[in-house]
This record gives sequence, C-alpha cells and structure tokens, in this order.
Amino acid sequence: MKAAILGATGLVGQRFVQLLSDHAWFEIAALTGSERSSGAEYGKAVSWKMETPLKRSIAEMSVQPSEPKGVDADVVFSALPAEQAASIEEDFARAGYAVVSNASSHRMDADVPLMNPEANFPHLSLIDEQRRNRKWDGALVTNPNCTTAVLTIPLKPISDTFGLRNVVMSSMQAASGAGYPGVASLDIIDNVIPYINSEEEKVQRETCKILGKPGRAADFKVSASCHRVAVLDGHTEAVFLQTEKPATPEEVAECMARFIAEPQKLKLPTAPERPLVVRQETDRPQPRYDRNEGHGMSVVVGRVRPDPVFNGVKFVALGHNTIRGAAGCALLIAESMKSQGYLSR
Ligand code: NAP
Repeated sequence: MKAAILGATGLVGQRFVQLLSDHAWFEIAALTGSERSSGAEYGKAVSWKMETPLKRSIAEMSVQPSEPKGVDADVVFSALPAEQAASIEEDFARAGYAVVSNASSHRMDADVPLMNPEANFPHLSLIDEQRRNRKWDGALVTNPNCTTAVLTIPLKPISDTFGLRNVVMSSMQAASGAGYPGVASLDIIDNVIPYINSEEEKVQRETCKILGKPGRAADFKVSASCHRVAVLDGHTEAVFLQTEKPATPEEVAECMARFIAEPQKLKLPTAPERPLVVRQETDRPQPRYDRNEGHGMSVVVGRVRPDPVFNGVKFVALGHNTIRGAAGCALLIAESMKSQGYLSR
C-alpha cells in the first residue's frame, strides 16, 4: 500500500521515513513539508538525524505541499505541528484518505479513536461512528502523546487484572520529544527543565480516554509531573499506583511480563514480540541501554516494589519516544486498521 508522510522533514517525520523504508506492507509514495521545503529534494530539505543512512531513492523524492492535491496514497501519516494538523488532517480525511496522526489537535474528539493498539484495539470501531457523523469516507485516527504512549502499556494489564484507582507519574523526558531543533543546547545541557507546555494535562486526560471504553473515559485519577532531561531518546517514568483490588509487586510484575494483546496475536509487522519487558536488576531500565528493546516498540519496566503511601505498587517504565511514542505507534495503528478492513479506499 502507498503511504504519504506529512511533515516528513521533522524528527517524527524522519522516524516515519526510516521505519517505512523497508516496511512489509507500506511503501513511501509522498513526502510533504511546509513552504520552507516544498519543491526541494527531500535529501536537501531535511537535516537527517536518524542512526541509519537515508536511502538515495527517498533522498531524491520531491517534497510536496501539505495538501491532498497531488498526493497518491492509501494511508497518510501525519507528523505535523498541532496548529497546522487541525485543518490539514481534516482536509485529507474529507478527501477520502485514512489519516493516522501524531498531533494533539483531534485526540480528544469524541469520534476520533485515540489508539495505543495493545491498550485499546477495540476503539478502532469509533471509525464507523466518525464516518457517519462527519459524512466522509476517509478516517482520522490519532496516537497518544509520547509520555502517555509509554505509560498506558504497563497500565493496561494492571487495570484489567486489578483495576486502577489512582495513578501518579513523574517523567524524565528526552530532548528529541521537543522536535528539531527543539530545546536550545544551552538550556538543556547540565540541566533539568521542570515544565513542558500542556504535557501534564495531555497525560492526565489521554490516559483515561485510552483505558476507557470507546466513547467513555475510565474514571480513575491520574496526576502527572513532566520534566525535560538531557537524554537524546527515551522517556523514563516513575509510576505510583493504587489499585482497586489488592496487588503485590510480584503479582503486578507477573501480569505485566505475561501481557500480549491483539497486535501480537495478529502478528502485525510492527508489533513487538513482548509489549512489556520486565527487568529484575535494581538499576534498570535506563534510556541508553533499554530504549531500543523490541525495535523501540517495547516498554521496559523495572524496580517493581511496594508503595507505602498508596499501600500499592510503584515501578519505573521506559519507552522510545519517537518510536513507541510516535512513528512506531502510528505504524502499528495503520497495521491494526488494515487488519480490520479500514484501509481499503
Ligand atoms: P518538528 O521536528 O518540529 O517537525 C515539524 C514538521 O512539520 C516539519 O516537517 C515541518 O516542515 C512541518 N511543518 C511545520 N510547519 C508547517 C506548516 N505550516 N505546514 C506544513 N508543514 C509544516 O516536530 P516533531 O517533533 O517531528 O513533531 C511532529 C508532531 O508529532 C507534533 O505534532 C508533535 O507534537 C508530535 N509528537 C512528537 C513526538 C516526539 O517525540 N518528537 C512524540 C509524539 C508526538 P518543514 O521542515 O518543511 O518546515
């Protein structure tokens, strides 16, 4: 199937290019950018930051304007800034394209699935309601904010097994989460920035939408504190939980280690064998060593131990913010849509 990438020159756009360069089902057919890069060769417009070289055939593609005209694709991956995504993504869906977005603009729309496939695969059914409501043949599906994408994977099996009452999460978020060029080096080196605009509100509301039923958010409470640290890739999260039913750290660790979901059962190409990897060492997970687990799609959990305040459990979770938290999650969503017949134009 043909895939277009909107905002292909940005950090998430580049991750899409990298992951789609040898994808089993999707082939890059169009790359778009802003006025700055439209008309230029992709290789000249982009400041390539991925660890693998950019393929020459892709470098020679021409960057198109971010509009439906002239884009020939079965699926459209959006890595646009939220402000632009709001109307451009709707234009594509109205024109009949299936859009999978990284932007926050439509995440909380009632008829837009906010998907992290292992956590809420059945939410895909909201696409039918969206098509009826909006009278379009296309589709608009979003992935979560990167911090929420990492958090909701461990929370899913715990919520299913023990129920959740209160979740407290304190993050240490990588610099690449701010896009390119992102945070100035003079601000981030030798420093921790204790504020990321709107991030805490996003984590709090998106977590409940994802772990609820389609159309009805979960009613447990989430409190998030988000911080930017001098790490290139990989968000680390300290998580403190009060469950509905009593749960020991051993029981929680076991239910996380055993967890698999529809993407694994369907053997979707981007699904990691294990969405959750539970480490026993006292000093893991760490971004440098653990962010590429499961090709960047697994969340690595460690230090599962009792929490004396909640009389519950606490642990540390880590995930790759531009793979599980962005482009990889969007690819898994598109593969999930294809598996359920939502990608036939
Ligand atoms: P970025 O590095 O700043 O890239 C932005 C992209 O959007 C570039 O390709 C840019 O094209 C394009 N763009 C900017 N203004 C535009 C306009 N007016 N019209 C059309 N295209 C325009 O940002 P990013 O980090 O890749 O993030 C992209 C989206 O993903 C954002 O919505 C972000 O919140 C979300 N997200 C990011 C992460 C992460 O870890 N970085 C994780 C989850 C979600 P030009 O280069 O041609 O100007």
